[in-house]
Amino acid sequence: MSSGSPSPSAPVDLFIIGGGINGSGIARDAAGRGFSVFLAEMDDLASGTSSASTKLIHGGLRYLEHYEFRLVREALIEREILWSMAPHIIWPLRFVLPHHQGLRPKWLLRLGLFLYDHLGGRKRLPPTTTRDLTQDPLGKVLKPGHATAFEYSDCWVDDARLVVLNARDAAARGATIRTRTKVVGARREGGMWHIEMLDRITGIQETITAKMLVNAAGPWVEQVLGSAHSHAVRLVKGSHIVVRRLYDDPRCFFFQNADGRIFFAIPYERDFTLIGTTDADFSGDPAEVSISEAEIDYLIAAANGYFASEIGRDDIVWTYSGVRPLYDDGASKAQEATRDYVLKVTGEGEEPKLLTVIGGKITTYRRLAEAALEHVESALGTRKSKWTAGAQLLGGAFGVEGFEAEVAGLKARYGFLSGSEAEKLIRRYGTEAQVILGSAESADDLGHNFGAGLYAAEVDFLVRNEWARTVEDILWRRTKYGLHAGRIDVGALEAYLANAN
Ligand code: FAD
Repeated sequence: MSSGSPSPSAPVDLFIIGGGINGSGIARDAAGRGFSVFLAEMDDLASGTSSASTKLIHGGLRYLEHYEFRLVREALIEREILWSMAPHIIWPLRFVLPHHQGLRPKWLLRLGLFLYDHLGGRKRLPPTTTRDLTQDPLGKVLKPGHATAFEYSDCWVDDARLVVLNARDAAARGATIRTRTKVVGARREGGMWHIEMLDRITGIQETITAKMLVNAAGPWVEQVLGSAHSHAVRLVKGSHIVVRRLYDDPRCFFFQNADGRIFFAIPYERDFTLIGTTDADFSGDPAEVSISEAEIDYLIAAANGYFASEIGRDDIVWTYSGVRPLYDDGASKAQEATRDYVLKVTGEGEEPKLLTVIGGKITTYRRLAEAALEHVESALGTRKSKWTAGAQLLGGAFGVEGFEAEVAGLKARYGFLSGSEAEKLIRRYGTEAQVILGSAESADDLGHNFGAGLYAAEVDFLVRNEWARTVEDILWRRTKYGLHAGRIDVGALEAYLANAN
């Protein structure tokens, strides 16, 4: 899918390199303020770091230890703003942090959580409480010896869908979004940027002119425009493992390791538990990142240090890895490098400006986009004031209290759906679930069944509206059917997509 392509000769206001959360978020904000925007993504939307996160909209409790108060406060405030913007793909979670003899003392955990509760505009999310693990059912899934825990709030996000919804909203507001389109060069000439891009499907090369260029290439930020535009970037790899569900409770664990690092165990896609993450300096091609044997061993040992029922390699059903493009603040350890973002503007006098995005979290993408737009407006002139805070993303216009009613409504309208199918569809598409189901009166009306509940109607929707082209786009980014790939006829899906594109 491509939308509103301007003629290559008409300059656009803003050309954005990268369709991760930062590029898509800036595209949305800028398009909504009336700027003409062109975004090029060399692969699929969210195919870089933005689909490989721990998927938390969080203040980052651990960043308090590094005195990152500005970042933590901004991120804490964003939790409720983002939740109300997209209550289908973002929702509250409770985290249980067991006290561990010999690690951080209780007073320190209490102090950190007190700050966490009070630093940043918490209105709806419930506050921290203390849990007696000898009484709480969650205590039973842990090895003996954990008596006390603290339970606090953060939010969950479907990271890849957040990217796509931002790109869709940008396109709806006039932006051109091109996937599978790689920027291969950019030069300043005649007061404009001339950006060369390669369509990786057709092999056609095209030049776009733009008044301003944004480099939001994530871990590729240093490579994309060559060494003349390099900045202090530290690449830090993080990996996760997914295992069959380890416990039956909606709450997550926030565990401390003896080495001072922390990791999460999070209920995931109903049948699974997500465990991560690691932190290790990375060099090489970010597209090739994958979990190492040492990371697998580390995460298994970490989980087995806490859970009564131990896991082994055979329990792992999926792993994923991503590369954090962090600002290099000179920290000695990878986990201590700042998670804050840095925006750099270059271009002398009348030269067209280049804005480079370094770092940032999924959680702070909306604020990062607002900060980026301040630079855009100072270069290109002011158009409109900030607008994204209250503006819901597609499918999310039912409010933070409305999820259950939305599921019940869908189930009532489409009697052939089970409760869990209706819930799954609302989680993924919100009010747009009805667009997929249309006038269907039975599952047979949804077209070919590829298995595990994936029907042609959903595939068609993703191809038509969300730039999905490959099996991987559909099974691992637009949805997580990939976790049930054994029950899906992948060959049939591949053949279907070949005809659809
Ligand atoms: P990316 O998502 O990598 O996007 C950059 C895009 O640019 C890519 O899609 C790439 O294909 C494209 N690109 C590169 N070169 C070119 C080119 N030449 N032409 C066209 N396109 C190009 N944040 C949170 O808020 N919560 C979390 O729980 C969390 N957990 C994390 C866990 C891990 C293990 C990691 C690695 C990160 C985590 N983060 C988390 C951080 C967050 O995921 C990243 O900060 C964020 O996704 C970065 O987004 P981005 O848009 O800058 O980069």
